[in-house]
Amino acid sequence: MHVASPKTAVPVELEQLAADCAAKSKRRAVWLRVGQLIDGFGDNACPDANIVFDAKQIHFVGGPPPAELLPAGQRKPDAELPQHTIMPCLIEAHAHMFLDGTIIDFAARQLGLQQDTNAMLAHARARWPRILASGVGAVRDAGDNRTVGLALAAEAKTMQNKLAASPWIDSPGAAIHHRGRYGAFMGEPIEDFSSAEQCVASRVDRGADRIKLLVSGVIDFEAGRVTTPPQMQAAEIATLVEAASRYGRQTFAHASGTEGIGHAIAGGVTSIEHGYFVTEDQLSRMRDAKIAWVPTLAPVQAQIDHANRLEWNAQVVGHLRRITETHQEMLRVGYRKGVDILAGSDGGSCGVPHGEGLLRELCHMEDAGIPTMGVLQGATGASARVLGFGERIGRLAAGYRGRMILTRHDPLKTVANLQKEKTVLFDGEVATDSRPVDANKH
Ligand SMILES: [Zn+2]
Repeated sequence: MHVASPKTAVPVELEQLAADCAAKSKRRAVWLRVGQLIDGFGDNACPDANIVFDAKQIHFVGGPPPAELLPAGQRKPDAELPQHTIMPCLIEAHAHMFLDGTIIDFAARQLGLQQDTNAMLAHARARWPRILASGVGAVRDAGDNRTVGLALAAEAKTMQNKLAASPWIDSPGAAIHHRGRYGAFMGEPIEDFSSAEQCVASRVDRGADRIKLLVSGVIDFEAGRVTTPPQMQAAEIATLVEAASRYGRQTFAHASGTEGIGHAIAGGVTSIEHGYFVTEDQLSRMRDAKIAWVPTLAPVQAQIDHANRLEWNAQVVGHLRRITETHQEMLRVGYRKGVDILAGSDGGSCGVPHGEGLLRELCHMEDAGIPTMGVLQGATGASARVLGFGERIGRLAAGYRGRMILTRHDPLKTVANLQKEKTVLFDGEVATDSRPVDANKH
């Protein structure tokens, strides 16, 4: 394991060097030797590793590369970075691209929702460079009924297997909910159709890559629990899951509250989103049924962090802390049991900015007690394995896309190091996040 962060390192030099390598990678294979390589799926980092890649893909990872992969006569790496770690770009498993997470105040958020679709889409497109620079290379949009996610996903598909300038994204379009129940701001009611099957068919017709189900309501922070019964029963969920699978689509279920989570598990969804108030027994069943969990700690933590502006009193803050502590404990239990725990920040929700929000979510997962490598896997290789994206991402291995984070701040010491300056190599371009080092990770 290498020792990161020598005081003498000058990030500007790395920037230049990375830019040179990126430019070369558009013409030929580039050979980098790094102090540490995290491949996104292995349990151990690889010290003193070599990686050979071009703008399109990675060709080799490991010891000395075979000569036939290198330009004729090349015997030395194009760059040696003994103090640096390289790892795959991060995957954001849960974000709402039509929403602006920097907006805290309720009235301003309501106003934001009144924008027309073109304005929302323009804002979302404008956020890409910052999201990419934060290290996020792919997003699973978690639903909107304004077609922003679908439009971004369609744009990404035009660049599939090509050199893209922005992260990969796919989207479910409008989430499915019941008329009059939670989720009207991001979903459309199943009652618009004569059957669950027709509802799913219509989503797929509009371009949905996945099917998002709103199975429960949300946590009532003032009550400190989910106060409404689930809006979907297990049989209905199973029908929707079955219909989705006929089109080769995964399903993901917004579910908080023990009862709703139980219905989502029994219905056989691909993943449970949020999952607040999950039980130990339910975690065992999720592991056995290979249902993943995206615990989204960030939005509840944001309520605590912004309690004053949100005018939460001491009692509500007490609820929020208790809910978070219980959730953290269930995260440890789930991890121990072998549940696939994936990193998703609920970016776009109140106080959770896109890009940065995922970096915070990783810190929350680490703070909860998930081993650092487990957190990184949940944001790279495990996420890619479970969610099956339309690009070969999430791992550093031959055949995968050359979308990588290069940093002198060892992410295995703490994932908070990913919030420090770093360089993102992405399809032959570089994106640099050179914000001043911020000791405060929230
Ligand atoms: Zn969400």
